[in-house]
Amino acid sequence: MTTKTPKPSHFPGPPPAGLPPWALVALYVAVGLAPLALAALRDEPARGFWHELSSGLVMVAFAMTLAQFLLSGRFRSLSGKVGIDLTMRFHQLAAWSLLAFVLLHPFLYALPTLVADPAAGFARLRGMFASPGLRTGVIAWWLLVILVLTGVWKDRLPLRYELWRLSHGLGAAAIAGLSVHHALSVGTYAADPALATFWAGLTAVALASLVHVYLVKPLLQRRDAYRVTANAPAADRMWRVALEPESGRTPNFAAGQFAWANLGHSPFSLTEHPFSISSAPAERPRIEFTIKEAGDFTNRVGEVPVGTRAYLDGPHGAFTPAGRPACRLVLIGGGVGFAPLLGILRQLAHDRWPHPVDVIYGNRVESQIIGRDELDALAGRLEMRLNLVLSEPPPGWPGPTGDLTPEVLAACLPERDQDALYLVCGPVPMMNAVERGLVELGIPAGRIVSERFTYE
Ligand SMILES: Cc1cc2nc3c(=O)[nH]c(=O)nc-3n(C[C@H](O)[C@H](O)[C@H](O)COP(=O)(O)OP(=O)(O)OC[C@H]3O[C@@H](n4cnc5c(N)ncnc54)[C@H](O)[C@@H]3O)c2cc1C
Repeated sequence: MTTKTPKPSHFPGPPPAGLPPWALVALYVAVGLAPLALAALRDEPARGFWHELSSGLVMVAFAMTLAQFLLSGRFRSLSGKVGIDLTMRFHQLAAWSLLAFVLLHPFLYALPTLVADPAAGFARLRGMFASPGLRTGVIAWWLLVILVLTGVWKDRLPLRYELWRLSHGLGAAAIAGLSVHHALSVGTYAADPALATFWAGLTAVALASLVHVYLVKPLLQRRDAYRVTANAPAADRMWRVALEPESGRTPNFAAGQFAWANLGHSPFSLTEHPFSISSAPAERPRIEFTIKEAGDFTNRVGEVPVGTRAYLDGPHGAFTPAGRPACRLVLIGGGVGFAPLLGILRQLAHDRWPHPVDVIYGNRVESQIIGRDELDALAGRLEMRLNLVLSEPPPGWPGPTGDLTPEVLAACLPERDQDALYLVCGPVPMMNAVERGLVELGIPAGRIVSERFTYE
């Protein structure tokens, strides 16, 4: 049933900073195509189709490589509105595309000879790979292959995530340095001053972003340290970790955002993990995370003692109703994916949100429900309908049961206002099913906001 509803109102709080997605895409396309435009402005005869195609593709690939630094550098003013999961997904897709362009680069140069005389073509290719003049380009070519493949298979490498991240950053810096040398020394358009300035400038920006991530940010974090003030079980294999800033100040954030948290390591150690903030902005300076045991670090998070020094990089993320008009909020979470939704609910209760709130919270068993008593208390302070859904319910469970299928969603959502906002967070299979289910129920895709805890 679709209903007409009262005038929507904005959820209070600062909307995430950053460029609107269309502006980010436009900027990215402009950076990617700028070298082609600069090359086209040169008043020179073309050097043959395959030669120009090879140069054109590799120049676009190099510009995309340098833009990768900025996209993955967690710059809120750039990609803050898009969300980290989408940004990183794009980073991966861009990596595949630019790898294809770079792999093709030497073969396209040799293609006419390869077609006319394969033996001479292969000899030409061998010559290119062995040429001392092309050495920096060849090393960058191989390094890029290694960098992309180790990025894809990072979870299967016998390497800690932090070491992989460091090697990925250093490898990317080496590729940038070697490629800029190759472009400026032997590139087809190496002699063009406008292009040379473009490459030098973009490489400097990319390397500066690396220095910012690995040096400037940790220094700033060291100045704004936190302490763990509480660490207690939140549910089955989940922990509630509270922090307070030594300075007394926690940056403002929007309910539902996340931060990279470093608990007990040096700010330079790269040992940090992204966790959604499950406390409300109104509870600042205290800040709380709900952390599930899921791997090397999180399996031991319950052992982190009170008093441990901590550092935060945040807030990040676009998973928030802040700044979006809505006449009803529908919060759909699964497992620890409920953490950001808890922060949103707490803020709604603090602000006495005047509109209806539907909560659909799926788990396997009852002991996995985070903050059961608090949820009942929050339901009393809001116009809230709480649906606790269990796929393995105990006998006599009063709530809905099963997975979050379209049927379960439909049963939990008798009213489906066009102006309602749907926030979805949980395990990836659940999210895929819920997003599909909501669209099947006639919810416009633009009213669904979701966040995945994994980039794959
Ligand atoms: C935006 C976002 C919000 C999140 N919010 C929460 C939350 O509120 N509560 C919660 O319990 N979990 C949350 N996670 C997931 C959490 O970050 C991972 O479970 C945790 O980093 C795993 O670390 P580990 O060392 O225990 O596991 P590992 O065994 O090292 O890794 C398990 C998986 O986590 C990935 N991973 C490990 N370290 C990092 C890292 N530093 N950055 C990114 N990915 C990493 C690995 O690639 C692997 O796929 C969130 C993730 C994201 C991206």
